[in-house]
Amino acid sequence: MSKIVMASNNRHKIVEIETFLKKLCPFDEKGNAFEYLSLADIHFTDDIVEDGDTFEENALIKARTVAKLGYIGVADDSGLCVDALNGEPGVYSARYAGGHDDADNNKKLLEKMKDVPDEKRTGHFVSVIACVFPDGTELVARGECPGRILWDYRGNGGFGYDPLFLYEPMDKTFAEMNAEEKNGISHRANAMAKFAVIFAEEINKRKNK
Ligand code: IMP
Repeated sequence: MSKIVMASNNRHKIVEIETFLKKLCPFDEKGNAFEYLSLADIHFTDDIVEDGDTFEENALIKARTVAKLGYIGVADDSGLCVDALNGEPGVYSARYAGGHDDADNNKKLLEKMKDVPDEKRTGHFVSVIACVFPDGTELVARGECPGRILWDYRGNGGFGYDPLFLYEPMDKTFAEMNAEEKNGISHRANAMAKFAVIFAEEINKRKNK
């Protein structure tokens, strides 16, 4: 049985990936179901240093670490890119204000945007999913979702920058959407859908070898 290890201990992300892959690619090249594991499941406790300059590099750093241990490594990296701030917070989204605190990060973002007029308050969320096989084969999929940065918080759901990010076609912030709404249009859902397709293609190629 092939083992897919998500380079994350975030159960939510692992379940999301598992759901997408199970639909589009339930079996490995030998016809066996994949087994999905977390870093904790394989007793991996080292810190993985995410020092890449791009989402792609950071996702690959994490996936390669797992592939070196003999598993199919899957990792994601995501963040918010604001046009008026030259793409900030970008790969630093999780630790924009220094710690890993959503409230502090949002406060810093609002402060940086305090003189930015309406028409320039554009940005997008990015999610990159990388997969590395033990033989070194690498797959990368990117999803984006465009939006606007508000002047104040709207909505109580979600996490991170959700209450400041307005998705205009629905006139809702990510924090005002339910999970189903967000999963229909989000950067992560977008990346996962693309990833599931290229992953299934790779497994098919391996079947025919
Ligand atoms: P990571 O990909 O888990 O490292 O997350 C990066 C950071 O980007 C998170 O801590 C959030 O601040 C931000 N982020 C990524 N995706 C979202 C989202 O869907 N909503 C709000 N913030 C997000």
